[in-house]
Amino acid sequence: MQWRMLFMFIIFSLLSSCAAQPRSVPPQVSSAGFTALSSSKFGGLIYLNNETYVPGAMPVPGRPVIAKCKSVQHDIRIEHYGASIADLEATCRFVSAAASDAERWFPGHRAKYTIIIVPEGRSIYVKRRSLGFNSMHVTLAAADFSDRIRYRGNLVDLVAHESFHALGRLANDRRHLDEHIAYYAGLCAQLDVVGSIPESALYGAALIDGVDDATRYSSATAYLVRREVFPLLHDGSITSDGDGGRILAKRCQELRSGIHSSDD
Ligand SMILES: [Zn+2]
Repeated sequence: MQWRMLFMFIIFSLLSSCAAQPRSVPPQVSSAGFTALSSSKFGGLIYLNNETYVPGAMPVPGRPVIAKCKSVQHDIRIEHYGASIADLEATCRFVSAAASDAERWFPGHRAKYTIIIVPEGRSIYVKRRSLGFNSMHVTLAAADFSDRIRYRGNLVDLVAHESFHALGRLANDRRHLDEHIAYYAGLCAQLDVVGSIPESALYGAALIDGVDDATRYSSATAYLVRREVFPLLHDGSITSDGDGGRILAKRCQELRSGIHSSDD
């Protein structure tokens, strides 16, 4: 009994705050969906409760095809519903590159990934629990947008943002819960990996009604980051070789040094 209470306390006291249970997801949720990682640690043992959701008019069709990424530096499994081979290879490269970019925040830590590619307009909700020793297996659902610029930007952003939370947790750094930096981790990765961030990849307005505190906090933080980054747009995007991109890259560097130079 005592153990159970302790275990529950650990779980509930360490909830990551970037999203909430699907029952509390408001209708305004972005078509890119949401992901929630919550974890508990006991020594080197990590219990991960991973929820990931993409909204759509209909559920995904049948069972997914499972593929393993080859020729990349990370352990990545792809679950898809008929993506082409060319897309799969590119998807593997983008996921691995985004993961590498996220590792710059917490060097020396690495996660494993399952990426679910959801056909555009379809919905999926997946909940996976895992137990690992000093390791995390992160599952992320990403919409297969026909707009490939949006697809790549969203995929890279999602992997980098959630990896920031996961790797910081592995590093025992309490800033893994910092949503403000996590949103920057997504944008910094988009800039580094894709080379540009279109205005459509910036986050939308803050949600106020019908959401729980964690979702409201995440949404408000996303909106704050949007306002901070918006002036860097030029002709509808931030590019790595433009003034806005150089300013954003400097901001990413400063935020990273803030993490690396701190004692805790
Ligand atoms: Zn988050």
